[in-house]
Amino acid sequence: MKTVNTFLKSITLFFANRVRHTHNIKYVLAIVALFLIQIIFINSCKADNRIANYTDYKVEGEIEHVCKLFSLDSVGIMIRYMSFMFDRPDYKNLTAYVIPNGNNNYTIFLKKDMDENIKTVITHEMIHVFQFYSMKLEWISFTEMKYNGKLINCQKVRYENRPWEREAFILTERINELACLK
Ligand SMILES: [Zn+2]
Repeated sequence: MKTVNTFLKSITLFFANRVRHTHNIKYVLAIVALFLIQIIFINSCKADNRIANYTDYKVEGEIEHVCKLFSLDSVGIMIRYMSFMFDRPDYKNLTAYVIPNGNNNYTIFLKKDMDENIKTVITHEMIHVFQFYSMKLEWISFTEMKYNGKLINCQKVRYENRPWEREAFILTERINELACLK
């Protein structure tokens, strides 16, 4: 989608240059037509996001919903079962986590047979995707994250006090409230 847009913009620029040099009405009309095509194209184009779900959880709807809410585009989401559990005590009740794989690709790991509401869990993880996507959150290692440019050691800051978690909980709550209003 972005490539087509860039292409349309560059030919518009080409015609704009032509108008400057030749003052030909044909080029003016071409620019107007190109602008119209761009407007129609942008409005009719759905965001180019890919979802590869390797679990039995039906989470595609929630993923698309969050993508739309936060205007996530050209994002790849892979859903897998957790293959290992962290042995740290504060990770004992971990039901899901997300890892950025670069180039706007993310893998969300979900616990098999979880008791929690899967829709809430996936919305929470998608907020983390949005945080990574907007570069608000940066993955440094399994124990270190950068939030708003500030390095945070996860071994020193408890899960519930981590700013990206607080934000994810607040936003998930708001999204659920909005869904209830529908
Ligand atoms: Zn979280």
